Amino acid sequence: MTLADPARLSLNTATVKAQWSLAQSIEGCARHGIRDIAPWRDKLAELGPKKAASLIRSHDLSVTGLCRGGFFTAKDWLDDNRRAIEEAHALEADCLVLVVGGLPEGSKDLGRARERVQECISKILPEARAAGVPLAIEPLHPMQAADRACINTLEQALDMCDALGDGIGVAVDIYHVWWDPKLEQQIKRAGKKRTLAYHICDWLVPTRDLAYDRGMMGDGIIELAKIRSWIESAGYSGFHEVEIFSERDWWQRDPDEVLRICKERHRLT
Ligand code: ZN
Repeated sequence: MTLADPARLSLNTATVKAQWSLAQSIEGCARHGIRDIAPWRDKLAELGPKKAASLIRSHDLSVTGLCRGGFFTAKDWLDDNRRAIEEAHALEADCLVLVVGGLPEGSKDLGRARERVQECISKILPEARAAGVPLAIEPLHPMQAADRACINTLEQALDMCDALGDGIGVAVDIYHVWWDPKLEQQIKRAGKKRTLAYHICDWLVPTRDLAYDRGMMGDGIIELAKIRSWIESAGYSGFHEVEIFSERDWWQRDPDEVLRICKERHRLT
């Protein structure tokens, strides 16, 4: 198994969200020689997209993705997604990640929720195409189907991409899809064209929190190097974005230490 290319490492700001502002994360990446960053929009709002874009550029970084659009269950979903597309455009982000939302309030109809996601995406897709912002559907682990995303496998996401056409693909987040028996097959299917982002971390045993107990690469049970080899054989040559939500561990640590360890562990993934 070959080592991961250090130049492919990107920092998703969620990894140090408890410790650092966006400006500090940008400066931290530059200090640690990490050339790419993926901000969340709550952090982006601290600076505003214009200021953030110029700070990112002045530190010679590029943006692998903006997290997140989607949440089509929200009342203001259309305006919010339009804003997200504008922000991703301002940052020249490689993609806008879509976390699509779960069941609408009061509903138990998962099939209908999924259809609705496709209808909503088809409304925003022309604007995203015009802005040059690829949309990346991120399937989430089925434990979050009700509250965060009713698209739960790469296969579902790719079926939707096929129905929607160009300008849309998937964000492969290892934490959400590592268990899928069709993972290798669907990674191959996604290929270079549809794979827009690759998010890495690890699955801890036991997991103590459904959202905020992700592990550092190497601390859990995901076969990271194997899955990266599948993704690379499928033609993906983009970035490996470290995204670790970790209330009890990594968010408690010195962020410079977190970045140092991310770099070390990334090589082995
Ligand atoms: Zn992710």
